[in-house]
Amino acid sequence: MILKQHGNTMTQFRLEALDRRLSPLHPMKNVVQRDYKNMKSGVRGEREVDYPLSFLDVEKYLILHNLRLRDKQGFFQIDTLILSESFFLLLEVKNWYGTLLFDENGQVIRIGDDYVEEGFPNPVPQAKMQLHRLHKWLQNHDIFTIPLELLVVISFLSTIIKSTSPTTNFIPKEVIHNNQLFFTFEELGRKYSTSLLKIGQLRNLAERLMKVHTPPSKDILVKYNVSKDELIKGVFCPKCFALPMIRKKRQWFCTNCSHKSVDAHLAALNDYKMLIGNNISNQETREFLQLTSPNVAKWLLQKNFKFVGNTKARVYEI
Ligand SMILES: [Zn+2]
Repeated sequence: MILKQHGNTMTQFRLEALDRRLSPLHPMKNVVQRDYKNMKSGVRGEREVDYPLSFLDVEKYLILHNLRLRDKQGFFQIDTLILSESFFLLLEVKNWYGTLLFDENGQVIRIGDDYVEEGFPNPVPQAKMQLHRLHKWLQNHDIFTIPLELLVVISFLSTIIKSTSPTTNFIPKEVIHNNQLFFTFEELGRKYSTSLLKIGQLRNLAERLMKVHTPPSKDILVKYNVSKDELIKGVFCPKCFALPMIRKKRQWFCTNCSHKSVDAHLAALNDYKMLIGNNISNQETREFLQLTSPNVAKWLLQKNFKFVGNTKARVYEI
């Protein structure tokens, strides 16, 4: 049973909104675009891994995705943790595409579709460190007996995994392709056939893990050191993506392609929600949508959102 879902989809939406609202000249533009691209492939990779996991017996296994736990050294993140009565399995998911070549040190050379080579460190020590930290964490919570296993899962089925040597296999045994995940899991189930914890104990542990899970800060502007004033304001044309649309005869009008829209402001307000927050005042709305009239702002807001507070202090919940 999946007790904790993946958490990256929201981050992907936030990064997408930030990219849209950041000038190409902003010093953080490249970093935001790079992280957005990685996050997008991360979310796709997560979905790929969900498929083999969907074959696991939901009565017997508890699945927790994207756990972020604290220990003495700070935070450590576990992509996926599977709890069973006889062993725990940690999955480190790698969204690497193209061709992966493992050398004798387990280091990875990735060759992308564009034939550009990129190096990555051996993923196994990194996963082992997460496992070590998890092991310590469990000991601190009086769980001593359960065997812990780890796998590095290459999420995309089209990715080719190879050894740099034609005669020696340098691919670490912990590294598997997504399509082997279910079968490797079954093998581990056979290896660890003794039940050491009851399902009730597993549930308690899963609840404790979810309770101490600390999501990374949602405040994306703080993370990327972008101030509110630096964001590009206005309503994008949904057809040609030009900016800003103007208000004309109770509609949004694109001066670039003449497209008309009644609700183009909703996407802009969603960007506001993703980047700044759920609550918006009339003045903030005028600023973000580049409107001059408080009455138009009020009309647009009241049509779609509930408000709290009276006149001056009124805010609307997006
Ligand atoms: Zn347009």
